[in-house]
Amino acid sequence: MPTTFPPWNDDHKMFRNMVRQFCNERLAPHRHDWDKAGEWPAREVFQEMAELGLLGIRVEEEYGGMGLDWWFNTAFAEELAHARNAGVVMSTLVNTDMATGVIGEIGTPEQKEEFLAPMVRGEKIAALGVTEPGAGSDVANISTTARMDGDDFVINGAKTYITNGAIADFITLAVRTGDPGFAGISLVLFPTNTKGFTVGKKLDKLGTRSVDSSELAFEDCRIPQRNLLGSLNGGFIHIMQNFQGERLCGAIMGVGAMEMAMEDALRYGKEREAFGRPIGKFQVWRHKFAEHLTAIKAAKMLTYHAVDKMESGDDPTLEVSMAKLYAADLAQKVIYDCLQFHGGYGFIEEYDIARTYRDMRLLPIGGGTSEVMKEIIGKLSGM
Ligand SMILES: Cc1cc2nc3c(=O)[nH]c(=O)nc-3n(C[C@H](O)[C@H](O)[C@H](O)COP(=O)(O)OP(=O)(O)OC[C@H]3O[C@@H](n4cnc5c(N)ncnc54)[C@H](O)[C@@H]3O)c2cc1C
Repeated sequence: MPTTFPPWNDDHKMFRNMVRQFCNERLAPHRHDWDKAGEWPAREVFQEMAELGLLGIRVEEEYGGMGLDWWFNTAFAEELAHARNAGVVMSTLVNTDMATGVIGEIGTPEQKEEFLAPMVRGEKIAALGVTEPGAGSDVANISTTARMDGDDFVINGAKTYITNGAIADFITLAVRTGDPGFAGISLVLFPTNTKGFTVGKKLDKLGTRSVDSSELAFEDCRIPQRNLLGSLNGGFIHIMQNFQGERLCGAIMGVGAMEMAMEDALRYGKEREAFGRPIGKFQVWRHKFAEHLTAIKAAKMLTYHAVDKMESGDDPTLEVSMAKLYAADLAQKVIYDCLQFHGGYGFIEEYDIARTYRDMRLLPIGGGTSEVMKEIIGKLSGM
């Protein structure tokens, strides 16, 4: 562990301020409108983010990135909470990390040039396509096939819930290239302008409404075999490795959202009066919030511990699974109480807490459910 932990320094501070200012000025003012509209101008905003260097924090400099580490990524993901719209945060982190982190790690120079560099420049948008109508937690059971034919793969099947699915230029796609089970899966980079690809229903959902979660269909889609990412039939391992970045982003999102919700609640507790005093002065709430602030700090430090593990090069699966589980489940309690503290106003969409409550319900489901996290933690702890 570094001598100062977490190892924040002046560079991180400057970077944070820049991201926070961008979120406050460019994103937060639209939080209600984009949520109501069920979309946000991702392409336009990603170009603006690209100009600030925000899309390629961990990407090597030769592909236009900043070549920085997970600590800068953490600062970025934390500050994104200031957009006050988790749909926007998800859309962004899928693009910068969840769908593309794996390209940075195992992509060929040609793949990085063709897919990663344009994402960093804000020219291409990425999605991650793993989940299918018949297989979510059970990734080893996916059935979308990629059959080899000459120099191509021919892809048939369906994906669902895909974040950015309707707007993506390419998808980091899990396909079956071999036998049933985990040893027959590969990852491919799938351009969405491929013939036979269609975007089906944009799913109408409880939260993160600004970003689409789409059903995708693949009918005899031909892509070149050079788009194979990593090794043939080795995709399951690559997906599991990529999940660590995705889940870490989930934990950071949870901590960020809880901190914002608490900040808002503490402010509200000073303004709103009942029975002749500010509601924040009722001991029942002071104690509840004292517990929540303590638990949020614990979630944050556990998340930082997972970031540290990620940076160390050792397998971070245990720490990341713990951080995702703890932050996602804690967010349900903290945000429930923050809404309750607002009384009737908490139920009104004008207040951020109503949207945050809906948005954060996703955390214990997306990117691996809390039950799956517990299975992983159990297995890695010898149970
Ligand atoms: C808004 C949204 C956005 C998403 N974005 C993406 C995306 O961009 N890309 C993508 O690929 N996927 C995406 N997903 C899919 C998401 O990752 C899956 O929904 C999630 O992994 C759970 O899979 P499932 O929905 O099939 O649930 P299931 O696997 O059917 O699980 C149903 C229930 O059974 C439980 N369960 C399953 N297995 C076990 C077990 N072994 N032990 C105990 N309990 C178990 C689960 O915990 C859950 O409670 C998204 C989902 C949503 C809702």
